[in-house]
Amino acid sequence: MSFLKKIIKKQLGDLNILRAKYFLQKTGVPKTLRIDITAFCNAKCPFCPRVAMPNSRLSGKMSLETFTSIITEAANFGIKTVKLYITSEPLLHPKFSEFIDFVKSKNLDVQVSTNLSVLQHRLKDLAKVNKLQLSIEGWDKNSYEKYRYPLKYERARENYNFLINDENLKSIFKEIHLPVTKLTDLKKFFILWGNVDSIRIDFMQPYNDFNIKNNTFISKFPLQLKNEIYQLEEKVDKICYDPFDEIVVGFDGKVHLCCLDFHAELPLGNIENGFANILENQKRKNIQKEFLTGSVKTCKGCSQFMVASKNQKDELIKKIDKAWKVSKPNSKIIFYDKVWEK
Ligand code: SF4
Repeated sequence: MSFLKKIIKKQLGDLNILRAKYFLQKTGVPKTLRIDITAFCNAKCPFCPRVAMPNSRLSGKMSLETFTSIITEAANFGIKTVKLYITSEPLLHPKFSEFIDFVKSKNLDVQVSTNLSVLQHRLKDLAKVNKLQLSIEGWDKNSYEKYRYPLKYERARENYNFLINDENLKSIFKEIHLPVTKLTDLKKFFILWGNVDSIRIDFMQPYNDFNIKNNTFISKFPLQLKNEIYQLEEKVDKICYDPFDEIVVGFDGKVHLCCLDFHAELPLGNIENGFANILENQKRKNIQKEFLTGSVKTCKGCSQFMVASKNQKDELIKKIDKAWKVSKPNSKIIFYDKVWEK
């Protein structure tokens, strides 16, 4: 963020910025569609909200017919970017390749996230995506297989090398979002995975669950990792642009509030009723109103409002700096507004 932007942000405050953007229609007209083409994932990561997912949402896949009708409407509606991931591993859909082709035929950008577990012939389908996010947290075999249980380190390494070296895949922007715990060995991580375009670092966060009785999101720290995850504090100012700027659709067409409404718990309708209908949904509008009036109730306990203290951030900056100096990865390293690059 530029110096000037930082000053403006500080002077106005996040809430006034949201209000101004809403008034000027710089927010509130979604340009991004997130869509789960399948609900299936082959990993059981200990930090993932899938641990609390109802059985009815653990599997299932979207038909090509439904997908093409959603994407056709999305393009007409003004969506610019399609992200093919919310709760699952999209490359496991048998028609993944056709899905990508259809998005590209509508001149939309397409972004994909993968855990690198699939066979290499599936990775070739990625040649047309605009951005690829790689889900990796481990810095060696043990840690990789702990965080990405029961996936195999050797397969992930083979696929990583293939992605980095294959001529058709070289030009795709590849990013790792690395959620760190107190145990993360950054030096080893940078050496092992430091040939992607960027590694975006953040603290590992709790996951979101939904309390049906109170109609509120609540954060839950993953019990299996309780000794290593940083204890974060609840942020006072709660602003979120997701209910304004994204439309999020599950494999069954159910509309999620955002990608952290993992189990699609709120009654926001079904995409088969059309995009305009989703924007008019009263529940969605009420949540927007909660943010615009600064009276956040439904999302008050969302995990994205659990943040690190200044000390925790300063300590992590020192650790990143030290690891970067000894490993000098090719990747750009990003932590909030700090950047390390060769
Ligand atoms: S605050 Fe959390 S639950 Fe609410 S819309 Fe934003 S990301 Fe979703």
